[in-house]
Amino acid sequence: MEDELIIFNGSDKISDKSALDRVREIGCYRDITASTVECRDFLERMSEECYSYNRGQVDGTKFLNIFHGEVGERFPEPGKIILIDHDLYDGSDPRSNWFFGGYVGNSMGLGYIQLSTARLQNKNHERDLIRHELGHMFGAAPEGRSNTYELLGSHCSNDLCVMQQKDTVPSAINYANKRARKKAPIFCGQCEDDITNYKKF
Ligand SMILES: [Zn+2]
Ligand SMILES: [Zn+2]
Repeated sequence: MEDELIIFNGSDKISDKSALDRVREIGCYRDITASTVECRDFLERMSEECYSYNRGQVDGTKFLNIFHGEVGERFPEPGKIILIDHDLYDGSDPRSNWFFGGYVGNSMGLGYIQLSTARLQNKNHERDLIRHELGHMFGAAPEGRSNTYELLGSHCSNDLCVMQQKDTVPSAINYANKRARKKAPIFCGQCEDDITNYKKF
């Protein structure tokens, strides 16, 4: 069965082509169609609605809830990638200072990848963040598999796999740079198999 992905790109920093290229990489393992929709004004309006003037940040959790109500419920199945340039925080977590975004699953479909570019350091970092979240969307490194560990969800411990989770931002950036320097494959063999064999329904 073919998976459908829709890219909602409100970012000036990540091109549509770059986002589509990341999805194409996953297309080595699965039959995927991806498209972009023109939605900048809509995403900007949503960001304003969720903007905290005290913090100078957008409440990413609220944003996603509203997005789900306005878009997700009408088109539940496709995976959705939402890219914005505003800095995000998690309004449902009082300890949250900021977050890059991440993958949020959904019982009705492939779920959401939400990503803020505000704190991205370079292209290696940007590419690997999107790859990592796409890995989550397609079931890479599930709980209970060998060579996984728990850190903000189940992650892969195999060397140079993009599904490793680092506990600090500098170590995540170092890791992305190291992977690029070594021309490492995106996923390890186990995560490749996870993605190839993943069945949402
Ligand atoms: Zn992760
Ligand atoms: Zn892996």
